[in-house]
Amino acid sequence: MEKIRCLILGGGPAGFTAAIYASRANLSPVLYEGIQPGGQLTTTTVVENFPGFPGGVDANTLMDSMREQARSFGADIRSGVATEVDLSGRPFKVVIDGETALEAETLIIATGATARYLGLPSEEKYRGSGVSACATCDGFFFRKRTVAVVGGGDTACEEALYLAGLAKKVYMIVRRDVFRASKAMQEKVFKTENIEILWNCNTKEVLGDGFGVTGARLLRKDGTEFDIQIDGFFLAIGHHPNSELFMPWVETDAAGYIVTEGKSSRTRVPGVFAAGDVQDPLYRQAITAAASGCAAARDAEKFLLEQ
Ligand code: NDP
Repeated sequence: MEKIRCLILGGGPAGFTAAIYASRANLSPVLYEGIQPGGQLTTTTVVENFPGFPGGVDANTLMDSMREQARSFGADIRSGVATEVDLSGRPFKVVIDGETALEAETLIIATGATARYLGLPSEEKYRGSGVSACATCDGFFFRKRTVAVVGGGDTACEEALYLAGLAKKVYMIVRRDVFRASKAMQEKVFKTENIEILWNCNTKEVLGDGFGVTGARLLRKDGTEFDIQIDGFFLAIGHHPNSELFMPWVETDAAGYIVTEGKSSRTRVPGVFAAGDVQDPLYRQAITAAASGCAAARDAEKFLLEQ
């Protein structure tokens, strides 16, 4: 059975950054990219807020560069999805794609989170061309235009407020007649003139012209339908951390995010570290994920030195 010093699961900014640091520290890391090579960022187009790219950078190009950088230091980047893990003792046992069994001295979990979508075919059709689950990634493309945000939680309010600073008008599509968000966040939304809240509404269909979003068809609770004209449709109905596989061993919070110790990436299992969105319900940015990937590699290095 293959024995690995530092196994990294997840090919997003957290995983690749961990691989860069771990390979430079001679940990001979092996990284499995998982279901979405390149991570969530690849669902967007241009990244304009990653430091070092004043003109912005194509999201796939950015992830390809991170992968290439990790490889250049000797990281072994592979495709495959972890399907079974046993973290009951070291070495940890991991099965990839249901068939390849591995043993790992340290494990960095960087499996990310998945944004929830409504599941409409029209939403899928315009994903990346007007439909987005990340206002900080894509909001800038809708300057002085009209957008809608679906959801009534803190994220939806935060995204609506962010978009209100850029767009001409922001609709919030809320399925009940109350927000789930904190009172403070609600107050901010209520005070923002260019946000209009559409209570008791669900989205029936995202409307488009074949190239991009042009509107949305909404269904009120009373059964009536109406259309709004919009250029962007933002989902903010929650994220789902990809932590199920590890739940029997590591601690997770009520929403499933892996709990790490203080500022470190240490989980409650010595030798298992978590980085990126799988342990971060708050910031969820490529740059913060990358930073925590660095921390995880450093923590793994320290752990191995102490053994
Ligand atoms: P939440 O689960 O808190 O809210 C999700 C929202 O989406 C709810 O309003 C929910 O409606 C709505 N929703 C869910 N499914 C659907 C659907 N199918 N159709 C329409 N609407 C739907 O998720 P958030 O991402 O907002 O927040 C996650 C956690 O992170 C929370 O604990 C939050 O407080 C925290 N957070 C804190 C921030 C801060 O403090 N600055 C910023 C962002 C998040 P309903 O209410 O009817 O269920």
